[in-house]
Amino acid sequence: MVNADDIWKFLEEVEDPEIPILNVVEMGIVRDVQWREVHNNWVVTITPTYSGCPAMKTIEEDVMQCLADHGLNEAKVETILSPPWTTDWMTAEACEKLRQTGIAPPEKNSADKGLLMGVRKEIKCPRCHSKQTTMVSQFGSTACKSLYKCNDCLEPFDYFKCI
Ligand SMILES: [Zn+2]
Repeated sequence: MVNADDIWKFLEEVEDPEIPILNVVEMGIVRDVQWREVHNNWVVTITPTYSGCPAMKTIEEDVMQCLADHGLNEAKVETILSPPWTTDWMTAEACEKLRQTGIAPPEKNSADKGLLMGVRKEIKCPRCHSKQTTMVSQFGSTACKSLYKCNDCLEPFDYFKCI
């Protein structure tokens, strides 16, 4: 008989479709793992990242597949969209992994509202940590990222947008 902790562990095998170096637990996508008497089964609650991402459906399917791989064919996946996912739910470890792969992690507690108000936000270069960076494009390699360039080491990098 598996318990909730086992299931959390299994779910660490599920990669985020947008950023395969991160799993859905680190991303804060998995909100809850619960045994529900009404279903007489496990229910995994997920909140997908950016609602515009085509990856939304993939995450749900990948979680189902992972549960099935561990013999939990009857487990259910429940998707909740409210409250919406926020980059604040990402673990510190997830942010560190992003930095190591050259993607600037989201700046906590400073949603990209600044862009709307014309205030430029300081994004640190993940390579040399310089704050002298410029946004090249609102959209980077995926819609979830913006493309930046470092004015010191001159390297372009992706910034994981904060929401
Ligand atoms: Zn740099």
